[in-house]
Amino acid sequence: MTNDTHTHAVQAQSGTAKTDRSDSSCPQLCLSIPPEAEYIIEKLEENGFEAYVVGGCVRDSLLGRTPVDWDITTKAAPEQVKAIFGRTIDTGIAHGTVTVMRGKEAYEVTTYRIDGEYEDGRHPRNVAFTPYLEEDLKRRDFTINAMAYSRNGGLIDIFEGKKDLAEKRIRCVGDPLDRFGEDALRILRAVRFSAQLGFDIDQETREAIITMAPNLARVSKERIHTELTKLLISPHPDYVNMVFEYGIAPWISKTFGQIQAGHARMSENLPSGVSMRWAAFLRYETEAAAQAVLKELKMDNDTIDRVKLLVRWWQRPIGRDEKAIRKTMSLMPEDAYRDLLALKRCVDEIPETPKDLDEIFVLSRGIGQRGDCIRLKDLAVTGNDLINQGMKPGKAMGRALNFLLDRVIEDPEKNERETLLAELRAEGYL
Ligand code: ATP
Ligand code: MG
Repeated sequence: MTNDTHTHAVQAQSGTAKTDRSDSSCPQLCLSIPPEAEYIIEKLEENGFEAYVVGGCVRDSLLGRTPVDWDITTKAAPEQVKAIFGRTIDTGIAHGTVTVMRGKEAYEVTTYRIDGEYEDGRHPRNVAFTPYLEEDLKRRDFTINAMAYSRNGGLIDIFEGKKDLAEKRIRCVGDPLDRFGEDALRILRAVRFSAQLGFDIDQETREAIITMAPNLARVSKERIHTELTKLLISPHPDYVNMVFEYGIAPWISKTFGQIQAGHARMSENLPSGVSMRWAAFLRYETEAAAQAVLKELKMDNDTIDRVKLLVRWWQRPIGRDEKAIRKTMSLMPEDAYRDLLALKRCVDEIPETPKDLDEIFVLSRGIGQRGDCIRLKDLAVTGNDLINQGMKPGKAMGRALNFLLDRVIEDPEKNERETLLAELRAEGYL
């Protein structure tokens, strides 16, 4: 098997006069690229086109992190990429991007390009292809995102991205004022990468952020939202303070600009999750204000609802005894209750002590494990039962069922058909 592979590799090389591709041919630096990405690069090279992995995957590999996806940049034009690979998808062909499918994996292969002005969405308004890798790297936002790598070419690092990685620095490629002028989203990307990596923002880049912040007003809310969410769910959600410190907040949106900077205090130990992090960030806002911020940023309704629930509840007492705990649990979905406990554990100014929270946690777990009835669907009496007893569907029936639910929340032993029907009779519902 090993021999076959080896022979195959040697044969493939002999026709194209390539250098030896074994690991010993990488004297300085060898990134470990997935075999499929390696295959795509080899194929492009065999057809006479330079190709490299580029951007985030090179950055993450150098940091010893596992890249999320592997982007490939090449001299080949989109049509040439399509001609070489069997299964491709025209992802963004106007911008030079073709997705190459390898098994279940998708790889974006983008032709070297120079960007025009950016507008809505992820892509610039117009692009021009170029035969030079250097031009493609120049258009990228930060030095740490502007490195390319291939086995044959090694690391291409024209802007000292590797040095900035080592010195933990976010620095624009080229003149920061120009770069933020071309695409103001980069302002938020700088803060977001800083939070994700725990890096500082280089002084010149930082000054340009402060100067250019008003340009963010022109960036689409969706793009802003994506960056803010990535910032908040990063290992350093507290870096969101930079948004206030650098005067970015007023330009994010009208309602965002009204958030009290001091209120956005975030701990690093917050539980993960998009709603959780947004809720922690917006917790001192009223529910209506939190909703307005998220709506303006075009957040989806499920997330908005969850954030509102957490904002509503984080400072409210949630009950210390089983009855009261069941009541609180009955008022929200199970996972929202878990989120609420987790949020309360990492913020101040709540009515419960950490010890209370420990006890509440244990009791609520017991309630779940026993399967105490806390929702209408688990009640031993259903609407149909009541119809069989001669009740008409409608508001009165709803009241009767909720009355029973309150009873069993107080005393789970009562969740038994005959007992509940007797309760209804006693109270005159039947
Ligand atoms: P992530 O891990 O968040 O995906 P990433 O670096 O891969 O990080 P992407 O947004 O996926 O970021 O973009 C891929 C690459 O494209 C970046 O590394 C960067 O080189 C370039 N890029 C993306 N957005 C911009 C932009 N607004 N301006 C300049 N270059 C950009
Ligand atoms: Mg990416």
